[in-house]
Amino acid sequence: MPKRNDLEYKALKLITNTGSNGILQSELWRKLGASSREGSRIAIKLENKGLIRREKELSGGRWTYRLYPKREPITIDSIADCPCFTCPESARCEPWGAISPNTCEKLTEWILRLIQEKEGAKPTANSGET
Ligand code: SF4
Repeated sequence: MPKRNDLEYKALKLITNTGSNGILQSELWRKLGASSREGSRIAIKLENKGLIRREKELSGGRWTYRLYPKREPITIDSIADCPCFTCPESARCEPWGAISPNTCEKLTEWILRLIQEKEGAKPTANSGET
């Protein structure tokens, strides 16, 4: 069941589902059936909690905010190329075994690549880039 503040919970859910497109706050208030005053208060509260970010945007000749989720919904695509899915050692791989994700180079490389992609391909100490 929704949290104690139902409107805040619904707002966060709607914002999260917009992903990287974000949503104009006026559009969000319309979907929620909230007043702009009530909606602005909710947006500020969510931003202060670190759950969303607000970016100023000119829309229809008026300044407003577009609201973006800080965390986007997780999809299966994000792990589809994880090496564990096709690994011949997966049946013997255990956290504390001789074959372990704790020491697996393939898994480490995959995770580091994801981090690089997320951070805009910043070079790492091991990448040989300067
Ligand atoms: S952690 Fe490494 S060894 Fe274990 S299943 Fe994944 S790829 Fe294979």
